[in-house]
Order: sequence, then C-alpha cells, then structure tokens
Amino acid sequence: MRCFALIVISLFAPLAIASESVCYGTTAIGRLEGGVQLPSSGENFLSYGPVPERAGRTYVHSKVRDVVVAAYKILEKEEPSKLFKYAGTGFKEGGEFKPHKTHRNGLSVDFMVPVVDEDGRSVPIRTDPFNRYGYGIEFDKKGVYDDYRIDFDAMGAHLRALDMAAKRQGIGIWRVLFDPSLQLLLYKSKHGSYIQANIKIPKKRSWVRHDEHYHVDFLVECKPM
Ligand SMILES: [Zn+2]
Repeated sequence: MRCFALIVISLFAPLAIASESVCYGTTAIGRLEGGVQLPSSGENFLSYGPVPERAGRTYVHSKVRDVVVAAYKILEKEEPSKLFKYAGTGFKEGGEFKPHKTHRNGLSVDFMVPVVDEDGRSVPIRTDPFNRYGYGIEFDKKGVYDDYRIDFDAMGAHLRALDMAAKRQGIGIWRVLFDPSLQLLLYKSKHGSYIQANIKIPKKRSWVRHDEHYHVDFLVECKPM
C-alpha cells in the first residue's frame, strides 16, 4: 500500500510543478508568480543568448510560454526554412525589467526580426554583448542593416502564428509594437492583410525604436496588484 502511495505521489508531482503562473497588474505596473522560462532553443528558434538567459531575463507567464512554443511549431510546418530568435521577456517574479518600461507581469515578449543574409538565406540575427544583444542594431527605412535584410514574409508568418496560437489557447494578443516607418513593408508582405485585419500595431512612435525587434503584449486576465 505504501509503495502504491509513493507511486501515486511521484506520478502527480510533475503536475504540481507544471501549475499555471499568476500575473498581477499591468505590463507597466505589475508582477508575476510562478513565471516559467522559455526554452533556450528548438528546431527553428533560439534565445538571444546564454548570458541573458542565466540572468533570468527570459521568463514569461506559463500561458505565454505555451503560445510562443506553439507558434514556432506552426512555423516548422509553414515556413520550414526560416529561423527565428526571441529576446528579452521578463523576470521569474516580474517587476522592473530595465531598460524596458513594461515587461513586468510575464505578458510581454520581444522578438528579434527574422532576417535574410546577402544570399537570401534565413539566418539568426547576431546578438552579443557588442551590439547590446541585438538591441543596438539599427535598420534603415528599407529594413536593411549591413548584410541583413528584414524578412517581412517570415515576420508576418510569425505574427500570424502567434495570433492563431494565442486564440487557440484562449488568450489573445493585446498589441504589437513595431517601428511606424517599417509597418508598410510588413503590410505589403505575404501575410499583410491577415495582420491588418487581426493584429493591433499602433502607428504612434514609442519611446524606443522598434526596428530590430517587435514587442508583443499578450492578453491574459491578471489579478489586481
Ligand atoms: Zn519590449
């Protein structure tokens, strides 16, 4: 009997660990309980570096993790030749996430723009201490920087996959922040009409230029602070 009880406990223990995160407040004034870390990499994606990962900068709400991973799974089928990279998300317990003004309750994720090189091949954008883990990169108005060109078709496919995965999980995307001077190129790309119909991207310039990354805020019901 005792042995049976032990087996039952050990069977259910992983479930207890895998319980859902709880968010509080807003992305600007908020915190998180039980945040989970995004996987470092998968078939078609990777994080912006082991150092920020070890510094605990890749935690999100468990529902957001599920959506991010599900979207990459969709892209494995839809865009098998494309590579993606995500950047800063937030801390395990949320709270202030410098230098960002938001990212405080597990619902914000920065994604580096997918890029192609001179030969048109999809490559992960370089992110290291010398370019502030990618945030120091400045694209011009055509979406070009050195040998990199923003792959707007891949970016559109990613946003569409995120939107579909979020809706399937019963959450949504509140908004996406992306540089107003580059938005037209996104709308002209393969999934432009889907994005215009389904995803809110404010035309107003934000405090930081979102050219090398796009910021996604997910919609999850949070408890008051
Ligand atoms: Zn952000």
